[in-house]
Amino acid sequence: MSDDVGQKKGLTRRGFLKSAGGVAAVAGMAAGGVAVGAREGAAVPVAMPKKWDQTYDVVVIGSGFAGLAAAIEAKNAGASVVVIEKMPVHGGNSIINGGDFCAPGTRLQKAAGVEDSADLMYKDMMKAGLYLNNPELARILADNAREAVEWCEDYVGAKFTRLNFHGGHSVKRANQTVNASGSELVNKMLAKAKGLGVEVRTRTKMEHMITNKDGRVVGIEVKTGFRYPDEKSGKTGYIKAGKAVVLTSGGFSNDIALRRIQDPRLTEKFGSTNQPGATGEALLAACMAGAMDVQMDWIQLGPWTSPDEKGFGHVPLFCERLVGYGPMIDPATGKRFFKETGNRKERADAIILIGHPVIIMGDSYSVPKQVFPNALEKGLQNGAVKKFDTLEALAKNYNIPLETFQKEIARWNSFVEKKKDDDFSCMIFPDAKPTVAPPFYAARLWPKVHHTMGGLVIDKNARVFGFSLKPLKGLYAAGEVTGGIHGAVRLGGVAMADCIVFGRIAGKNAAKETAWS
Ligand SMILES: Cc1cc2nc3c(=O)[nH]c(=O)nc-3n(C[C@H](O)[C@H](O)[C@H](O)COP(=O)(O)OP(=O)(O)OC[C@H]3O[C@@H](n4cnc5c(N)ncnc54)[C@H](O)[C@@H]3O)c2cc1C
Repeated sequence: MSDDVGQKKGLTRRGFLKSAGGVAAVAGMAAGGVAVGAREGAAVPVAMPKKWDQTYDVVVIGSGFAGLAAAIEAKNAGASVVVIEKMPVHGGNSIINGGDFCAPGTRLQKAAGVEDSADLMYKDMMKAGLYLNNPELARILADNAREAVEWCEDYVGAKFTRLNFHGGHSVKRANQTVNASGSELVNKMLAKAKGLGVEVRTRTKMEHMITNKDGRVVGIEVKTGFRYPDEKSGKTGYIKAGKAVVLTSGGFSNDIALRRIQDPRLTEKFGSTNQPGATGEALLAACMAGAMDVQMDWIQLGPWTSPDEKGFGHVPLFCERLVGYGPMIDPATGKRFFKETGNRKERADAIILIGHPVIIMGDSYSVPKQVFPNALEKGLQNGAVKKFDTLEALAKNYNIPLETFQKEIARWNSFVEKKKDDDFSCMIFPDAKPTVAPPFYAARLWPKVHHTMGGLVIDKNARVFGFSLKPLKGLYAAGEVTGGIHGAVRLGGVAMADCIVFGRIAGKNAAKETAWS
């Protein structure tokens, strides 16, 4: 955990807020017009500073997709804008992500002859989210995703060159960046933002939000010169937000204490795919200023990660490209066990239920065709992906009972031939071929903590709601720090759409706020 003291204080207050009494008490105070953050026995009362060190119209916290989208739009709407980032480098999870951006009706879909629509994407999101998604927000995302891709291409200059499939979607709709990484988009957004005159400051950590006597968010307390993970580093300073603060601080997959409170299974025994700074202190700081949270205990595990490499690694890009082209096998039984194209939660739960790593495999047709060459090469180099000349050698390596395994592969191949999986209803793509041609490639899979669906409550204008059930004046949020859009399961490739669509909305609206004085 990054901030022992701060987090403990925050969690105490969260415990209070989670109780009905806490919510009622805070709502009552807010209704009475009392400054929520200052009055509510906030664990960390933050007084208005005597002097602000800097003043901007819009202060953005976090330099990932959502933060940069917000900054660009706020700047274009005429605001002076700063982006602060606690880490030494910009980009957060966005810069290490796989670059898959889901949207319906894009140029790549049209070129591939894929029929899609915003309605279908919305339906897929709601189904995967177990209908716990805020329907209005999910609808906005689905309706605006295509335009968001076009903005990234035409205005920001990012290149999307390949169409991918992710489990739980009805069709291929992930528009992949040219380098299969979010860095293609983040770096171009950063250059665009700087070119427009947005200031970007790394090693600047938001410690607290500052509210005035009316409960309006008016600025933030920061530590400048912060050297992650040294919580004692840096110098305290105050940045005034003349119009609004936009919180885009990402998720909390790496905050073991916070995620365990929300989902007690997720101890340190589960690794994470996220960058080390993906912790929840900024989200908690917003809660301490009166912001409300939702669905914090829906935390997503990636079913495609490997125990044989650190972090996200290269196996996810191997695994996800192979679903619908190659089988997933439980090495203990030699059999398939689940629909390979199922959504993340279904698959991760199925693997956890089995209790040991499973494998995904493909052959010399499917692997070079589907897997990004760099991912394959790097996976082979670090040993997480293995290459075999025969099915026997593959079975021997993973201790798979050979006879059952061979029969299962023959059965899988028969399903691929007729394009219909009688056992698990896996989608089999039109260009899939039976897994018969050596060499064979395989990787072990075991889930890691990947995405936090819950976070701050926002409305369609990206305004953050307080415990008064009304917008908390002066605070906007977008991206993974928000909750409710994805419900129980965030489908692959939909986070990019979420961040860009709502980041842009947040930036535009933050710039339109009436300045306080
Ligand atoms: C390895 C990986 C691969 C992924 N691949 C895909 C994909 O292909 N497609 C897809 O749609 N989604 C993908 N995702 C999910 C997606 O990338 C994230 O949900 C998304 O990038 C979040 O963007 P964001 O702008 O909300 O936050 P981030 O990009 O995480 O940015 C938040 C920033 O805020 C900073 N910050 C946090 N707290 C503070 C503070 N107190 N003060 C100052 N700064 C702070 C963080 O350091 C971070 O840089 C992937 C995620 C991971 C981890």
